[in-house]
Amino acid sequence: MSKPTLATVSLGGCEGCHVALLDAHEGLLDILGMADLVHSPFNGTETIPDRVDVVMVEGAVTTEEDLRRLRACRAAAGTLVAIGSCAVLGGIGGLRNLSPLSQVTHVAFGDTTKSPLLPRLLPNVHAVTDYVAVDISVAGCAPETELVVAALVAAITGQPHELPRRNLCDECHRTKNTLLMHSREFVSDAVYALMELDHIDEDSCLLEQGLMCMGPMTREGCGAKCTAMNVPCRGCSGPSRLDFESGGKAVDALAAILPAGALMYLEDLIGTGYRFTMPVSVFPAIVDTEESDNG
Ligand code: SF4
Ligand code: SF4
Ligand code: SF4
Repeated sequence: MSKPTLATVSLGGCEGCHVALLDAHEGLLDILGMADLVHSPFNGTETIPDRVDVVMVEGAVTTEEDLRRLRACRAAAGTLVAIGSCAVLGGIGGLRNLSPLSQVTHVAFGDTTKSPLLPRLLPNVHAVTDYVAVDISVAGCAPETELVVAALVAAITGQPHELPRRNLCDECHRTKNTLLMHSREFVSDAVYALMELDHIDEDSCLLEQGLMCMGPMTREGCGAKCTAMNVPCRGCSGPSRLDFESGGKAVDALAAILPAGALMYLEDLIGTGYRFTMPVSVFPAIVDTEESDNG
């Protein structure tokens, strides 16, 4: 009997999710033992075949070409696997939705925005789920290699796939004393004070020490690797339930643990709460339709 087929596709992303897959090293041999790789940036094939058992998609939908390719993936795929925060949540590039497209392209490309060489950008960045149904999702920027491999193996073998549902605090080694802050200094320094702190207690919760850690609003699964290195979580795995807004959850959680009105002193609340999730948030995107035709 022939093996199932597998394709991996990169849309508007940095290909870091593909690198996460490559990081499986010898583990890739297990995947290639289970499935034939028929299309991928790894093997340089140009077109997505008409039928593929499993298609892994990385990256957000940022251009008309991304959208065409995504639709081709969905039409071809028996199982569509969205990998990485760009694909699942819109990702960090989705912060461009806060600015009109004309402004974004001007800053990025200056006077060359009418060049036919530039891809035709959509007015906003979208997660793949804005356009097509997805069978398995694994967020993260970049996602954990083990989670990527587990998702692909589940898709190839037809096994059920589930992500952890708890919050990052549950796997963070740090001692949670109160998770209660009562000083304005906490929010006025926030994450921007990270390099300014003279001392960070290696064992205590970073949020309790006055650093803006997104752990309470973020899905576990990465092993809390940032907080293990004294770096607050930035929320790259997204909320523990995809129907939760990470920004909304952040406001909710912080409003519960901070003094009344203190949130006003947190610099860039939107960029903090929606760093990876702006395209799937309810936050209204700024659409500049006039300038969207930049080709
Ligand atoms: S999720 Fe992160 S690593 Fe993956 S493509 Fe997007 S920016 Fe790159
Ligand atoms: S450091 Fe962050 S992830 Fe760890 S317990 Fe505190 S808030 Fe949660
Ligand atoms: S600790 Fe937070 S920011 Fe760091 S990898 Fe994990 S989810 Fe992402």
